[in-house]
Amino acid sequence: MQVIKVASSLGVVENQTEPQTIQGGIGEEICNWSRSDWTSSIDFEEVPTCYVCASTKRIPAFEKSFFDHSFHWVRCSDCGLVFQSPRLTKESLDLIYNSELYWHGRSDANPPSAESAEELRLGYNNYEMGHPYRMAQARQRVRALSRHLPPGSRVLEVGCAAGFFLAALKQAGYDATGIELSAAMAEYGRSRLDVDIQLGDFDQLEIPPESYDGITAWGCDSNFHDVRETYSHMVEALRPGGILAFNYFDFDHPARILQGSFKQVYNAIYYFNRSNVTRLLNSLGLEIVSHSTEFQYTCLEEVASMTGRRGLQTLARTLGIQRSMLRLPIVGSYLLLARKPPHPARRH
Ligand SMILES: [Zn+2]
Repeated sequence: MQVIKVASSLGVVENQTEPQTIQGGIGEEICNWSRSDWTSSIDFEEVPTCYVCASTKRIPAFEKSFFDHSFHWVRCSDCGLVFQSPRLTKESLDLIYNSELYWHGRSDANPPSAESAEELRLGYNNYEMGHPYRMAQARQRVRALSRHLPPGSRVLEVGCAAGFFLAALKQAGYDATGIELSAAMAEYGRSRLDVDIQLGDFDQLEIPPESYDGITAWGCDSNFHDVRETYSHMVEALRPGGILAFNYFDFDHPARILQGSFKQVYNAIYYFNRSNVTRLLNSLGLEIVSHSTEFQYTCLEEVASMTGRRGLQTLARTLGIQRSMLRLPIVGSYLLLARKPPHPARRH
């Protein structure tokens, strides 16, 4: 699974006061990390140049503390990309995505304490409980893709997590495959959703050129370890005329001020804005065919957890509407579809 990857947007957080056991849930067989494991196991490395424009000029953007480490983000002085530097090493990211803390939000049987609230908010706590919202979201994304790619097309989802989008693609008649870093998520998708998921790291995957009609990457707009490298790999794997589709959060959108600490998380390696994401795609030879505000199917409880607003969560629970399905425009979050040129440029 790519970050936060990866993957897939942040899940529903169940902030129970009692421990809960989910039979057959995600993460049962994966490692049990404690907070101290995270603190001692993660490493950082310098990022010499901007992923979008290769500039070496940057200014400090913000910093935050997670697991007794200080995380720093800088802003490129040329294209405005904000990125983590020094960044988590690839090995550290992989460890995070295969930890139970990441998928369940906590790694022990104790009720969450106030000090663990940050980990709860950052993780995919009880990911599978968001099933109806995730399927509604997935069908909406399939509808967007279908305007540019007909059913029957061969589609790869990078960082597919449990495979809800793959299930929606399959239902709509597409030939869908996913790749996922987390063994637990891949197994969940295969067994519960009956979808084709390959376990592995997309960056390491050898794909014959021009293998897919479409490649998608949902909820991992900030999470690839080297975004230029990963997107280049995707472009190579697309056939001429193929579609790359993903969503991203515009870090410089005015609405960010209303969104609290949303996405300011340890595994956010970079943050696009509307201008530099366009620049990156154009530099890879892609033409943008759709760039629109994304709508999300969710519930009040998830909104409260993702924005760190506990008062909203309390109010929704008091009114008994915490799980009612909502379709909300996510201001500052965009659905982007880009096309590889139908006919490769020929040299004369
Ligand atoms: Zn730059």
